[in-house]
Amino acid sequence: MTEEPCQCSDCQRFYKEHDRLIREFPTFKQQQELNWASIQSFRTLCSKVTNELQSQLSDRELNEDLSSEEKHISSIEITEALNELESVNAYLYSIEALMERIFDTKLSNNIESKFKEIANELAPDPLNVDRLILNRLFHQTPDFPDKKNH
Ligand SMILES: [Zn+2]
Repeated sequence: MTEEPCQCSDCQRFYKEHDRLIREFPTFKQQQELNWASIQSFRTLCSKVTNELQSQLSDRELNEDLSSEEKHISSIEITEALNELESVNAYLYSIEALMERIFDTKLSNNIESKFKEIANELAPDPLNVDRLILNRLFHQTPDFPDKKNH
C-alpha cells in the first residue's frame, strides 16, 4: 500500500530541514561534524539553563523577599522543569558517548564521493521514504497507534 506523505506544517518543516542538511552537508565527515556540533550546542544550552534555574531556586529558599521580575516563573514550574531537564541532560550525555563512537570512523575519498552522489539524488526528492520514516517524531497527529500522545 502506498501512503501519501503528510503535508501538515510540522512535516513540511521537517522535509525542508532534512533536505537542506543533506544538501549542505553531503559527506560523511560533514554529517559527523554537524551532528556533533548540534548535540554539543543542545547540551550547552540545556546545562546553562539548568544551572540558572537551580541557582534561582536556591536564591528563593534563602530569600523570601523576591522582586516581581524574579517571580514570573513559579517555584513549582522550575522544579518540574529541572526534573525534565535532568533526564534530557542524561540522554544527551548518552548520545554524545555514541557520537564519539561514530567519530572513530573515517572514510576514504572514494566513499565520500559516493556520499555526495547519493546526497544529490536524495535531497531534491520530496517523497524520500527514509525521510518520511524519520519524521515520525516531529509528527503531531496520532498515526502510530502504539504511541500514545503523539
Ligand atoms: Zn504531519
